[in-house]
Amino acid sequence: MNKILQLIAFASALLALTAISASAQQAGPSAAPTTTIETHALASLDTAKPFDAKKATDAYLRQVSGAARERSDAYFEGGYGLLFGDALYAVIVSGILLWFRISARIRDIAEGQTRSRFWQVPIYILMYVPLVALMTLPLTVYEGYFREKAYGLMNQTFLSWLLDQTIELGISIVAALFVVTLVYAAIRRAGRAWWIWGAGIVTVFLVVALVVSPVFIAPLFNHYSPLPPGPLRSDILSLARANGIPAQNVYLVDASRQSDRISANVSGFLGTIRVSLNDNLLHKASHDEALAVLGHEMGHYVMDHATRLLLLNALVILAAFAFLNAGFGALTNIFGGNWDVRTIDDPAGIPLLAALATIFFLAATPVTNTISRTTEIQADMFGVNAVRKPDAFATVVLKLSNYRKLDPGQWEEAIFYDHPSARTRIWEMMRWKAEHLNDADIKAGPVSPQ
Ligand SMILES: [Zn+2]
Repeated sequence: MNKILQLIAFASALLALTAISASAQQAGPSAAPTTTIETHALASLDTAKPFDAKKATDAYLRQVSGAARERSDAYFEGGYGLLFGDALYAVIVSGILLWFRISARIRDIAEGQTRSRFWQVPIYILMYVPLVALMTLPLTVYEGYFREKAYGLMNQTFLSWLLDQTIELGISIVAALFVVTLVYAAIRRAGRAWWIWGAGIVTVFLVVALVVSPVFIAPLFNHYSPLPPGPLRSDILSLARANGIPAQNVYLVDASRQSDRISANVSGFLGTIRVSLNDNLLHKASHDEALAVLGHEMGHYVMDHATRLLLLNALVILAAFAFLNAGFGALTNIFGGNWDVRTIDDPAGIPLLAALATIFFLAATPVTNTISRTTEIQADMFGVNAVRKPDAFATVVLKLSNYRKLDPGQWEEAIFYDHPSARTRIWEMMRWKAEHLNDADIKAGPVSPQ
C-alpha cells in the first residue's frame, strides 16, 4: 500500500488502520526461496531429557541462520528507516504545498468553480490527492516495487503492480472525497468541538470500510474461492464448526499473484467477517502448519478482534484529532500569513492537517503496534489451545521469517512490531507445550517435521 499517499490523503489514518482487518497481507508475506529451514536439527529436543521451553525456543531460532537470517534482518530493519523517511518525505511535500502557496492556489481554483463551501472541498481533493500521489511516486515505486523485488518478495511485473497502485489511488480518492468533505462540513457546523465530530466521522467511515472491503475492495486485487476438497479442507471446516464459525466464512485467496509470502487473515466486520488462507500457505506449509495458522485466524474471529481493534484505534483517532486541532491553531497563528491559509475551515489547510497527522501517527507507532501485537498474541494462544500443535505453529513461524526479523530486542519489538516476533511466538508455543507434556497428544519431541 502507498502509505504516504494514504497519510497525506488524510483518509490514510483509516486505511492504515484497516490493519483492523488483521490483514497480514500488507505487512507481509513471504518466503524468499533462499530461506533455509532444517527441521531435523533439533538435537536439544531429545525426548530423553526434560523439556526446557527456553532451550527449545533457542533451538528453533537457530534453524534460520547465515545469509537467510541476515537478509530478513536487513529487510525488516530497513523498514525502520523507511518509517521515518516516509514521514519526513510526507512532511516535506506538505511544506512545499504550503510555502509555495500551491495549496492556497488550489483552494482559489475550487472557490472559482462554485460558491458552495461544501462543494469546494471535494473539488480541492480532486486536485490535491493526485498531485500528492505524483510527488510521492518515486518513493512509492522504490518501496513498493524495487525494494520488494530486490529482496525476492515480489511476484508481479512492474505493469501489473502499477495497475494495482492505480486502483488503490482511485480508492484513496473516493475515500478522501467522502471523509474530508464530511469533516469540513463538521468544522463549519460544530465550531470548537469540530475535532470530536471529526474523530467520530473517521471512525464511522472506518466501520464502513471494514464492512465493504472484503466484498467490494479485496476482490479488485485478488481472487477468492472456496477451499479445494481434501483432508486439509475437512480438518479446517471441522475446526471452524467446533469454534462456531460458519463454513462459508473460510476462503482461499490467490496471494501468490503478488508475492510468495505465507499468510492468512481475517477481514470484514459485522456480516462480512471472513477467514482467508492464502495459496502460499496451502502450497508451502504442511497440513499441521496450515491448520495451526488457521487456528490463529479463527481466534481473531471468535474473540471478535475487529471490535477490539476498532474501539482501541478509535481512541487513537480521537487523540489524533485533538493534536490536529491544537497544532493547526498554533502553526497558523505564526505562519498562516505566509501560507495564505486562513482558519481551520479553509481547505487550503489540508496539507498542514496531513503533515500533523503524519507526525502524530509516527509518534503513535509504538501504541498502534502494541494494540495490534497484543491482539495477535491473544490469537496465538487461542490457536494453540484449539489446534494443539505448538511445534507446527513454531515451524510455520520460521517460514514467515524471510520478511521479519526473528529475534529483536525487547524495546525494538515493543516499538516496531505489529505482530509478535518469531522468538516471542515460538516461546509462547514452547511454554504451552511445557505445560501439556502429560497430555496424550502432546509429546516433548521430536518436532513434527514439515
Ligand atoms: Zn493474526
